[in-house]
Amino acid sequence: MNSIISVKNLTKKYGDFEAVKGISFDVYQGEIFGLLGPNGAGKSTTLEIIETLRNKTSGEVTVNGFDLDKQPGDIKQIIGVQLQTSGFYPGLSLVDLIHLFGGLYNEEVNAMELLRMVNLEDKAKSKFKELSGGQKQRFSIATTLINKPKIIFLDEPTTGLDPQARRNLWELIRNIRDKGTTVIITTHYMDEAEYLCDRIAIIDSGKIVSLDTPDKMIDALVASGFERPKDVKKATLEDVFINLTGHALRED
Ligand code: ADP
Ligand code: MG
Repeated sequence: MNSIISVKNLTKKYGDFEAVKGISFDVYQGEIFGLLGPNGAGKSTTLEIIETLRNKTSGEVTVNGFDLDKQPGDIKQIIGVQLQTSGFYPGLSLVDLIHLFGGLYNEEVNAMELLRMVNLEDKAKSKFKELSGGQKQRFSIATTLINKPKIIFLDEPTTGLDPQARRNLWELIRNIRDKGTTVIITTHYMDEAEYLCDRIAIIDSGKIVSLDTPDKMIDALVASGFERPKDVKKATLEDVFINLTGHALRED
């Protein structure tokens, strides 16, 4: 496996408080890598350091062979970072927003092709503020692809979405991975991590407590003698919901 991101002994202090306590991990080229952990675990801090948006306290980070300390500009060129949806001018159309971002990156973009990829072609002339929650998330993922990045960073992209919109986003993220882009994602949804991530790191209070494929983590827990407290039903409430309301998106 080719490592495209390498993090070694990364620490981050905010004043006296150590939010990231010496973590090390590699992200392989072409995988979806998940960072999971409770609120305040240090996920966003870690991502923003790798994205060159936040200073680290110590440790080494390389991205696509570029040293974070010496070549942050080179790193910026080959990554795509998802903005908070509040970061978009609400009154501009989707096409105008894409051209605006394309200009910032000095990149010729085919706006319609990008919108087609995220299933928003017929919203091309709509203003950002007129989109539903799921559409806003799809659009913000599209904007991460403007500079044709090798790696994209998605920090809780499905938080607050309904089950249909969440599943729709999973397919989009898989498509992006299948086209060769490496994806780093954070999420609080374990079903999502299990479905989407090739490997995950579980981070708690600034430390990585486990790093493996979802399958191997589950197998290891079972092998340790773990048993569910009661008989597991063959379906979940989410299965019921999707079964009753279907997979189709409602927003469009
Ligand atoms: P996560 O994304 O896993 O929820 P964060 O990386 O946002 O966690 O935050 C990790 C810890 O660092 C939290 O305790 C948070 O309160 C603290 N923290 C984050 N940003 C700052 C900041 N700019 N100044 C001080 N403390 C911060
Ligand atoms: Mg966070």
